[in-house]
Amino acid sequence: MKQENSDSGRKPKSATRQAEKLFRSYMKAEGMRCTTERIAVLREVYDSGTHLDADEIYRRLKEQGTGISRATVYHTLDLLFRFHLVTKIDLGHKHTHYERSHGVANHLHVVCEQCGAVVEITSDELGGLLERLCREQGFQLGSFSLQVFGRCMDEAAGGTCRRRRKTEG
Ligand SMILES: [Zn+2]
Ligand SMILES: [Zn+2]
Repeated sequence: MKQENSDSGRKPKSATRQAEKLFRSYMKAEGMRCTTERIAVLREVYDSGTHLDADEIYRRLKEQGTGISRATVYHTLDLLFRFHLVTKIDLGHKHTHYERSHGVANHLHVVCEQCGAVVEITSDELGGLLERLCREQGFQLGSFSLQVFGRCMDEAAGGTCRRRRKTEG
């Protein structure tokens, strides 16, 4: 099946398609079948462009009417991770979050420990620093996924977390 990408304004879609192509070829090389369910998991992670946990992915796919089991979602995420198509991130919850990694610049996540708000920061400076630190230890820097925990601040509320202030009235 061939489909041309004519809607140039929608960048995420071509990244999704590229990732899909890689996934298919890796799966083929491993002698595994690239089922529509597995492709649906990849698409959900790539098209959402956000950080999702396995249950959220499962829920979203169910809502779309995709007949998929939780086990398939977990297994597919493991495969995508192994093929470097998704990264696992720890946002301070008990479970892992996933995000797309193909065509995405390395970035830092700043997470509010109180309300869970996440901000992404891309920094050449940070990349340069990590590259130097790795080199000093005899490593070549690959991809990275970093989390920093803090507290989002609302200056008007004397520096307390924004959402906490809202919920506590
Ligand atoms: Zn907060
Ligand atoms: Zn991210």
